[in-house]
Amino acid sequence: MLEPKRRQDGDRVILPLNPQSKCPCGSGKAAIGCCVTERGFRKPPEVTSPPPPVTGIGQPGCYAASTLNCGGGLSREHYLSKALLEYLNMNGDLKVGGMPWLDAGALRPVAPNALAARVLCRRHNEALSRLDSIAVKFFRALGHIEHTRPQKRTCFLRCGHDLERWLLKLLCGVTASMDMIGDASVDSSLPGSWPSILFGTSDFDSMQGLYMCIEKGYSSTKPGGVCIQPITGRGRITGMGCWFDGFEVVLSMYGLRDRRLDGRGFAYRPLEIYELGEDYERSVFFSWDGPADLGTISLTPKRAS
Ligand SMILES: [Zn+2]
Ligand SMILES: [Zn+2]
Repeated sequence: MLEPKRRQDGDRVILPLNPQSKCPCGSGKAAIGCCVTERGFRKPPEVTSPPPPVTGIGQPGCYAASTLNCGGGLSREHYLSKALLEYLNMNGDLKVGGMPWLDAGALRPVAPNALAARVLCRRHNEALSRLDSIAVKFFRALGHIEHTRPQKRTCFLRCGHDLERWLLKLLCGVTASMDMIGDASVDSSLPGSWPSILFGTSDFDSMQGLYMCIEKGYSSTKPGGVCIQPITGRGRITGMGCWFDGFEVVLSMYGLRDRRLDGRGFAYRPLEIYELGEDYERSVFFSWDGPADLGTISLTPKRAS
């Protein structure tokens, strides 16, 4: 077993990191001039509001029209960028469920070209363009392929709110395109607060946001597979689920008050996913500005204790 370098002191996690070494956020800069603050690491969220000035235009057909900051006319775009879809689908096993063109409950493999719709104006779409590359970074950090090589220690820092907004982008895209198609079984009206949160004019409420299943191993896909599916409850769309490499990540816009979903335990905005294998150690840290459960989701194999 590899000797762990990371220590835990109460709810603090201590890493033997040289401030001059590269920042775990992946910027390539020294940690001291990047995400290190007096109170620990902080990775600020990506800007998702369109550049000033505000246009005052509400483009019909753009789901963010209520923010009166549209421009450039409607554009047909992927809810997920093509590059991200291709990354997620690198094994050809990306599955998507609950989408407008699927039967209820169906889960099907999807081609990268399928997830496109005319639901945003060009200006709003461009404002979100960075989120997809951030999502690719997130999946790379969680993925087993690159980071569990023998004698390898890895540490990643990601802004949790970027991941939340990426899932919210998906959620809004799916909800808005369902609205176009008019599925009568689900209330597909888009709450006005969602575009405001997505485009950074307001924040997530105290229960809204990212939840992560604390029971590693639950997966509706085979190892390596990816599944993306809107979550519905009481006849309305409540969030977006993403299953990847045994991880279950859920964006809930109504909150999981008891931290449970379908009988499984969840943590609201965890601080860290930590894994100590036979000969590797890795930490994926999330930076949060708002309320959060924090804590570590430990994937340490049972026999290690
Ligand atoms: Zn950094
Ligand atoms: Zn717009």
